[in-house]
Order: sequence, then C-alpha cells, then structure tokens
Amino acid sequence: CGIIGILGNHEVSPQLVDALRRLEYRGYDSAGVATVDDSGRLDRRRAVGKLVNLSDRLVQDPLRGHAGIGHTRWATHGAATEANAHPHRHGPVAVVHNGIIENFRDLRDELIAAGLQPQSQTDTETVALLAGRFMADGMNPVEAARATLARLRGAFALAFLFEGETDLMVVARKGSPLAIGHGEGEMFVGSDAVALSPFTDRITYLEDGDHAVLTRAGVRIHDADGQQVARTQARIDIGA
Ligand code: GLU
Repeated sequence: CGIIGILGNHEVSPQLVDALRRLEYRGYDSAGVATVDDSGRLDRRRAVGKLVNLSDRLVQDPLRGHAGIGHTRWATHGAATEANAHPHRHGPVAVVHNGIIENFRDLRDELIAAGLQPQSQTDTETVALLAGRFMADGMNPVEAARATLARLRGAFALAFLFEGETDLMVVARKGSPLAIGHGEGEMFVGSDAVALSPFTDRITYLEDGDHAVLTRAGVRIHDADGQQVARTQARIDIGA
C-alpha cells in the first residue's frame, strides 16, 4: 500500500519507519523494512499490525545500513501475517510492492515447477522469486529486475534492493504512482511525495511503464520500450 526507498548517508531504518508513518493514512495491516548494511548484507524485519510493532522489533533486533526499502501492506493476496508482509525476499533480492500482479498464479506455478518453494501466499513473492532466479542464472541485479518486469502483468509500483549492493535500487511503476526524490548525495523513492517531504522537495514522478535505476549519484529512467528518457524534476511544496 505504501512504499519507501532510501539510498542515504544515515542509519536508514529509523528514516524508513518515519516515512512509513507519513503513509499510515492510506491504511495498512502489516509493515516491514529491509536494509543493505555497509558490508553488503541484506536483511529484513516485518511485523503484523501497527508500525509501533515494527519499530519495537527493530529495537530488539536492529537493522544496520544506509540503503533500505520499507512497506506498509494492505493485503490483496494472502492473509495479514508476518510471512505475507513485505519486503519479500528470494536469495539476493528483496522487493516491496503496491498493487496486484495479475498473472502471479501462472508465474508461481512455473517457479514451483522449476523447484522453487514460495514462503508466502502473496502475489508479490513471485516478483522476488523471479528476480532471484534470474540472478542465479547469472544476470546482474539490473538485468534481473528488467527481465522480471518484462514478465509481470497488472498494476504495480515496485522497489528492488540487492544483497552486496550498497548503492543500488531499481524501481518501477505501472498503474500505481511512484515519486523519486533527489537529495544531496542521497536518493529517495516513495509511493507518495508526502513520504519524501522530510528528505527533499525535489521530485520526479515516474510515468506509467517507466523503470528507474537509482544510485546516490543520480537516477536513470527508462520508458516501457526500454529507451532512456528525461522526466521533469520539480520543486514541490508538500506543506507537511
Ligand atoms: N498485492 C500485494 C499483497 O497483497 C500488495 C498489496 C499492497 O499494495 O499493499 O501483498
């Protein structure tokens, strides 16, 4: 339901939770964050219910790192359980998702036939499974994310984070809004510019079908045909 992603210069997990708090108005049943720490280790924490449950979890069992993604979930496929909460992970890939992957049953059957074992009932996990499998086949993270996006039908906003990649995030939008926030040597992404207001007022909205490759140095945006495109960056007054 709500997505946040940060390639920052501070401990990112408290920032992720703060940003998710700004998206609470959208409603949610569970929440989670994943980070890549400075040694490249990808890890996640998730909790059912209020964001305070997630922040309690993070106090007990902190997540280090300056790169991360976060999510508030409004379940469409699979009950509101911790196993179904985002981020979903397979191997080196963690994913947060707004919307619905319409062809997930076919994808899931295909992945199970290939020997993978889903750990949740969600449509979203198929995205992580696909991308993780493409990486196991030898693709780099960006190639794997692109190959995954090419398989997806439905309406989605997605953010991918990768083990071993402390300065990389891939995001995509099709039918669900996604805003990129430009900081000073930091980059942000959010399903709503309101989530980015503590960090920056310089925003680029992705257009439908776009995907973007983010590093702290900047963003490369590609349209649905894979062509690199320029999208307007604007200063917005969020007033939050
Ligand atoms: N369809 C996904 C799920 O049920 C994402 C729902 C959302 O947008 O929060 O997990």
